[in-house]
Amino acid sequence: MSTPTVGFIGLGIMGKPMARNLIKAGYRLIVHDRVEAPVREIMSLGAQAPGSARQVAALSDVVITMLPDSPDVQDVVLGKDGILEALRPGTIYIDMSTISPIVTREIAPLVEGKDAEMLDAPVSGGEKGAIEATLSIMVGGPKDVFDRMLPIFQVMGKNIVHIGDHGAGQMTKAANQIVVALTIQAVGEALVLAAKAGVDPAKVRQALLGGFAQSRILELHGQRMLDRNFQPGFRIRLHQKDLNIALSTGKALGVPLPATAVVQEAFTALRGMDRGELDHSALVTLIEEMARVEVKPGGK
Ligand code: NAD
Repeated sequence: MSTPTVGFIGLGIMGKPMARNLIKAGYRLIVHDRVEAPVREIMSLGAQAPGSARQVAALSDVVITMLPDSPDVQDVVLGKDGILEALRPGTIYIDMSTISPIVTREIAPLVEGKDAEMLDAPVSGGEKGAIEATLSIMVGGPKDVFDRMLPIFQVMGKNIVHIGDHGAGQMTKAANQIVVALTIQAVGEALVLAAKAGVDPAKVRQALLGGFAQSRILELHGQRMLDRNFQPGFRIRLHQKDLNIALSTGKALGVPLPATAVVQEAFTALRGMDRGELDHSALVTLIEEMARVEVKPGGK
């Protein structure tokens, strides 16, 4: 394939910088979002916007979606004006949203029914990773398609791994989100306990960073808890969605995920308390309220 024309649907926190990086790398971009402002912004960099997801697919060799959740991807692929009917033989559809692997496995055969190909390629690394093109990208689908799409992934990310068949990328992302959520809960409980005991949680964090409890979460989210910095980053609302994906996949496969369920309920409580738009490190605020103490440097 000579340089493919890339369609990009979903220009939110993540999609907009990813699309910008593709333009910078010299790809011709065709974009769509139901919100007008980010479309105009990417058009000002040279992209075309034909007005619907279906028209994007009709004009593109590779179509990428970066949408919030499974129903959004189902809508954009299968719905009225969806991309499915516009896929031509040989078109490659890459879903980079975080959605249910079960939904991915439902969509993939429909795409292949058009003699097109599909990859699921969710990412981690947040808005910063999207802007700096350092995302981790975990990919499911045929290996030869992955190999052909690698130059496109390399424009958006750094640690790019082909995991396995359709849905394997989403399964990996669900695993990632379990580890991140449970570690935030663990760090929150540890710092709240220290604070309640009158021990400086900042010093506890510092000491723990040198041992087996060391993690990126202790380092970054632990610091956020101490700084009371709950500006998103990654919103509680989206992390709850991801744990729902893990739990429903677990239910479908007969795998209990008890600790995941506890943190998912905590996220549910926080959404009920109007904290769904805060960074997921604000999980600590629920533990603090139960313990009637706040994590603060100095521990008083
Ligand atoms: P976002 O809500 O900022 O962006 C989603 C975009 O999709 C919005 O611009 C919205 O208008 C558009 N959209 C939704 N439905 C549409 C439709 N039917 N047609 C056209 N456009 C539509 O979300 P985000 O933070 O960019 O996240 C996107 C995906 O990436 C999610 O699955 C999220 O879980 C995942 N993710 C996010 C982060 C993060 O830090 N924000 C990190 C890793 C992965």
